[in-house]
Amino acid sequence: MVTAPAKINLTLDVLGKREDGYHEVKMVMTTIDLSDRLTLMKARDGGIYVASSAGAIPTDERNLAHQAALLLKREFQVKEGVRIYIEKNIPVAAGLAGGSSDAAAALKGLNQLWNLGLNFEQLAQVGARLGSDVPFVLYGGTSLATGRGEVLTPLPSPPPSWVVLAKPPIGVSTSEVYGKLRLDQIKERPDHERMLRALAEKDFSGVVASMGNVLETVTFTLYPEVKKLKERMIRFGGEGVLMSGSGPTIYTLVRHESRAFRVYNALRGFCKEVYMVRLTGRREIGVA
Ligand code: ATP
Repeated sequence: MVTAPAKINLTLDVLGKREDGYHEVKMVMTTIDLSDRLTLMKARDGGIYVASSAGAIPTDERNLAHQAALLLKREFQVKEGVRIYIEKNIPVAAGLAGGSSDAAAALKGLNQLWNLGLNFEQLAQVGARLGSDVPFVLYGGTSLATGRGEVLTPLPSPPPSWVVLAKPPIGVSTSEVYGKLRLDQIKERPDHERMLRALAEKDFSGVVASMGNVLETVTFTLYPEVKKLKERMIRFGGEGVLMSGSGPTIYTLVRHESRAFRVYNALRGFCKEVYMVRLTGRREIGVA
């Protein structure tokens, strides 16, 4: 079994549009203890079969774990096939990189199942072709991501904290949000220098003070209920409150368990999908 952790953005800044159509980003991401679980078994007939506990995601070639298997199979001329079962716990189209994490977990699992002997760097290179967030979730932990999100600089993990997340009952299209972003109208950008200092010093207040996501205004305009959810989370006692990725998930970091529990319980009255988890902290290194 391979775990596929979700990520949250502590920061997300968009610096410009590249010639290849992607946006140049700068973001600090960290993995959290909310994970899908993938079980992989050999399929002797050479086929790739994906099944999932969630009805909402495709299981054919559109599934990112399927795409990961197909890419590895072609690249390394693998004769065997695979049956992948995804126990889906990460909300879908939520800004938590669920699909990317399933792809990363599939790469790790298949590396073992098919005896490919690839290291993390090689897997990350394959992963980057599947999605910009795949290399990050492959390693996990905390990183500064630049380029289109695939250039990673490992960072110290944030000080221990609870994370309370709430996902309104809407799915957000990442490409629509990026498409509607007007770079010349960004007023406030996250303070990366301060964030990096705060992480190095394990300074919780510094981390909270430097969180920021330039996509919030776009998603808030498209879906005003996401903005309301953020305001509500602040009222309920959240410390650093931010939208993750392109949304619509809003999360808060809370230092103390009792306070996190209060925020969690208060939110459950308004939102069906609420989670209270911890940061995972560790980055994976060495042999994949
Ligand atoms: P990101 O934060 O990387 O933009 P996200 O969390 O917003 O991602 P995902 O949950 O990865 O979004 O889902 C985005 C789309 O990808 C969904 O519409 C879904 O149909 C498709 N998808 C393909 N494979 C998967 C998978 N294994 N799990 C979830 N969604 C998948």
